[in-house]
Amino acid sequence: MVHRVYNFCSGPAALPLEVLEEAREALLSLGDSGIGILEHSHRGPQYTAVHLEAEANLRRLLGADEESWAVLFLQGGASLQFAMVPMNLGPAGDYVLTGVWSQKALAEAKKLGTPRVAGSSEATGFDRIPDALDLSPDASYVHLTSNNTIYGTQWASLPQTHAPLVIDASSDLLAGPLDLSRCGLIYAGGQKNVGAVGVTLVLIRRELLARSPSTLPTMLRYAVHAEHGSRFNTPPTFSIYVVTLMTRWIERQGGLSAMAALAERKAARLYQAIDASPLYVGHARPEARSRMNVTFRLSDPRLEPELLAEAAGRGLVGLAGHRSVGGLRASIYNAMPLAGVEALAELLEEFARRKG
Ligand SMILES: *Cc1c(COP(=O)(O)O)cnc(C)c1O
Repeated sequence: MVHRVYNFCSGPAALPLEVLEEAREALLSLGDSGIGILEHSHRGPQYTAVHLEAEANLRRLLGADEESWAVLFLQGGASLQFAMVPMNLGPAGDYVLTGVWSQKALAEAKKLGTPRVAGSSEATGFDRIPDALDLSPDASYVHLTSNNTIYGTQWASLPQTHAPLVIDASSDLLAGPLDLSRCGLIYAGGQKNVGAVGVTLVLIRRELLARSPSTLPTMLRYAVHAEHGSRFNTPPTFSIYVVTLMTRWIERQGGLSAMAALAERKAARLYQAIDASPLYVGHARPEARSRMNVTFRLSDPRLEPELLAEAAGRGLVGLAGHRSVGGLRASIYNAMPLAGVEALAELLEEFARRKG
């Protein structure tokens, strides 16, 4: 048996063991082809089946029908989407600032056009989701970050917008059902909740593809990738294979509503342990708490290294908070089992009893 720990890292993040085992086998031979997944032509029949299944599984899980939505597999991470969105959709996006990632998205948009800030929770240290948005009637699109990986806040529901709603869902795509009726474009780096480092998922309404200016460099146009089924050039085949395995795994767990129920249970268990002791101070306001990234600090920060060391001793790793917030952060994406969360919650309770 390989030694495995509970990995609470924010991304690249933990994958289910059965997915890793299947990927390990496919490295040597995909099915009985005698050729490993990394060695297959991206246009050959074996890889084509993987590619089409990844897309079909995502469509089925999210309810993204073929006629309305293009599902793209791109590279460059969510960070490249910060630029591709304004390049393709237009210069005047409305941005809701809820943390570092939305600030970075805005900074890219500023290089390319004239975005506006339509809401922000910066004044309170990004501890909440702004409750009122000041949307402009002629915005090219509205951009928000559905789950704030660093601060540990998450939108409880998506706002109704007149302009197409663009969502950076890097850390909560596939964690639960998504209200696609409100969305125009959704993007996510694969390495967090989806689980596949090296691919960026983009779902875009087909009617928005016509906005991609033909003067843009080819590789930066959504329309080109949609027209070529994400095989204009060589796609990240191995990462897309992992998406296929992860989406199969999610379906075996019961689909997105089962993922949402599990996420709710895991998050509630950790927040319960945090709320039970004055030793722990949660970063997010209760109504904005993330079900993906649980952020907190210790009322006596000098105890944090001790707690992290004890956690590591029990095989609970990746719990240090992001450098911009400090404290601790437990990332509990789809692949984190309830048992890992339970072990962490028990440690928090026991540590609080000893220090309290
Ligand atoms: C991690 C993260 C990003 C950056 O993703 P890359 O794929 O590394 O570019 C952007 N947005 C959110 C919400 C993230 O969690």
